[in-house]
Amino acid sequence: MLKEEDIGVMNSLRQVFLYQASQVNLGSVKGFHLLRQIYGDYDFVGVSSIDCKNYRRDMLDFIGKNDAQMLVEMLMKKKDFLPNFSFEYQTSENNALTNLFWADAYTKRNCYAFGDVMSFDATFRTDNVVGCQRFAQHKNDHDSLYIIQDMHTELQIEKEASKLYTRSIFFDVQTEIYAFVISCMSVLCKPAEDFYQCSCKRFESYGLLCRHIFYVLRFSNVKNFPKKYVLKRWSKDSLPPPSVIQVTGDSPDMISREIFSSVEYCVNRYANDPELLQKFRDHQVQLMAKADADVPIPTKTNKRDRIASILGVSQPEETIVNVPKQVNT
Ligand SMILES: [Zn+2]
Repeated sequence: MLKEEDIGVMNSLRQVFLYQASQVNLGSVKGFHLLRQIYGDYDFVGVSSIDCKNYRRDMLDFIGKNDAQMLVEMLMKKKDFLPNFSFEYQTSENNALTNLFWADAYTKRNCYAFGDVMSFDATFRTDNVVGCQRFAQHKNDHDSLYIIQDMHTELQIEKEASKLYTRSIFFDVQTEIYAFVISCMSVLCKPAEDFYQCSCKRFESYGLLCRHIFYVLRFSNVKNFPKKYVLKRWSKDSLPPPSVIQVTGDSPDMISREIFSSVEYCVNRYANDPELLQKFRDHQVQLMAKADADVPIPTKTNKRDRIASILGVSQPEETIVNVPKQVNT
């Protein structure tokens, strides 16, 4: 049994790690093995696998049957703190959670750019769904801004398209530029007016020009991409620079993740230069000393308070919203 005073043994970062491991269905023992892999040595891990098991049990005790209630309260709290955060939920007759909808600045920006509305059935894996989507979106945004695409032709039109469209859309446009035209379509082509229309109606249906128009452009000797046919929702210009996305509504959680990835980034950059890597390490040691000076290590922390701060929600006084029946916990 984990004693109240022992909880200090496991620092809050390890606790957060174990909590996150449980979010992706990794049990306490696997969580512990991962910690050992990451930190390399028992001394650096600072906990045993028994501590990890106890910690997970304590956390599950803490949550109890209040899962849905705590989730709702957590999102309510976010709504109060983050100006651009929206949250709605629905319950069934017996107060079981049936639907959740939430959107933060980032999601809203995607809705604005792509015209989508996101809503999810109430399951406890929704966080991961959002996370995966967000990662894919982030990656696409990042790749769109920084990765130079391979060209399939020498055509100026293809080069311009690569600069105008986001990465995933460019692949579609590139295929159309490159494609052979087998079927005949009637293309209305007025280069002087920058007007093109094809009977296949691809642009009208998908917002992207078809291979027939590109074929005609090539033979009409039109060198530049007809920019008026680049819809805002597919264009790179609709992407704000990554820093703008990160600054809006920053939560401590997001800031922590940014710090982790920036440290990881630096370690990767310096990995092949032992001298610079050592300098970076020394700088980190200085920063750690400063952190100790800024925030003195508490001698004793209440176990419940620590779990509450990791989950971002305290134990509810009463349960109004019940867990949906079909959910696996
Ligand atoms: Zn066409």
